[in-house]
Amino acid sequence: MNFRARKRRAAGAAKAAGGDGLLVTHLADVRYLCGFTGSNAALVLAGARAVLFTDGRYTAQAKDEVAGTRVVIAKKPAVTAACEWMVEVGVKRCGFDAVHTTVAAFETMRKAVPAKVRRGMFVAVEPLVARLREVKDADEIAKIRAAAELGGKLFDEMLGYLRPGLKEMEVAATLEHAARMAGAEAMSFETIVASGERSALPHGRASGAKLPKRGFVTLDFGVVLNGYMSDMTRTVHLGKARPEEREVYDAVLEAQETAVAAVATGVTAGEVDEAARSVLRRAGLEEYFTHSTGHGVGLEIHEGPRLAAKQTQVLQQGMVITIEPGVYMPARFGLRIEDMVLVTAAGSEVLTPSVKAWIEL
Ligand code: ZN
Ligand code: ZN
Repeated sequence: MNFRARKRRAAGAAKAAGGDGLLVTHLADVRYLCGFTGSNAALVLAGARAVLFTDGRYTAQAKDEVAGTRVVIAKKPAVTAACEWMVEVGVKRCGFDAVHTTVAAFETMRKAVPAKVRRGMFVAVEPLVARLREVKDADEIAKIRAAAELGGKLFDEMLGYLRPGLKEMEVAATLEHAARMAGAEAMSFETIVASGERSALPHGRASGAKLPKRGFVTLDFGVVLNGYMSDMTRTVHLGKARPEEREVYDAVLEAQETAVAAVATGVTAGEVDEAARSVLRRAGLEEYFTHSTGHGVGLEIHEGPRLAAKQTQVLQQGMVITIEPGVYMPARFGLRIEDMVLVTAAGSEVLTPSVKAWIEL
């Protein structure tokens, strides 16, 4: 893990945005830049210097996790200590994350510095570190690959378990138990199990509803391994499907595979979205595809880039994104198929190992 290079790039981005310092408080960004995983942290980058401020609960943990960054155990709010330190070392313009900083935190920052230097001291900048995190390095790709592989393995195990009459919540609990037993630190997000008519809900959290004798079951879930998340969706059919259900499945699968094939370095996010959308348009299903095609994944479940209509962001080698078109016909049925995909020099590599072909149980 090259924290030094990451910190250098982040400090460079702050400088380009007009700051001689950068205050990092979003925890995923802190972890990315110095390895610290505690729940209270303020990291300051000032030129070549980096200092992490946290509190006494994390003395041992910070020592264990953080290398190459000075750690200060503060007796006051970490943000206050960080801002006071910046004044001490002469930082004049400190960039801070305009998206993740709360109004309350901003007030704390302002109060921490003397009135005479306050003016112009804090510069709201776009989430610079989140931007850097969009392109994964080799270490991150290995961790994401492991998480995606575990997700796929868990799904394959679930195929032998799914049957009519199980409650969606039981299915989620079984899956989550298996995930933890296999070493997952947590689930990436609340597990989605949507069956029968509920499969028409794009984000149907597992409910008390029972899996039907005949109908779709959509599982959308992810595991966290070494801090990195996976995200996958598969939809299977219980019992014999009607021809229309099969047709819609085939259209979603074609949309998914067409979008995966469109992924390459230099292509825009909007072009990938359009690749999926155009297949569903031709099938007369576009109006039922009510969300975007995908998103970046890494230390957080939803990162950039966003793969949605007209997005002009260009895909770069090393990005890890999801491709997840779906069709949702209200009060009838719905389905989605989602893979994680690595953008490579040559095109793309699907990281989710599970099959996508039609499955009838
Ligand atoms: Zn998902
Ligand atoms: Zn997703």
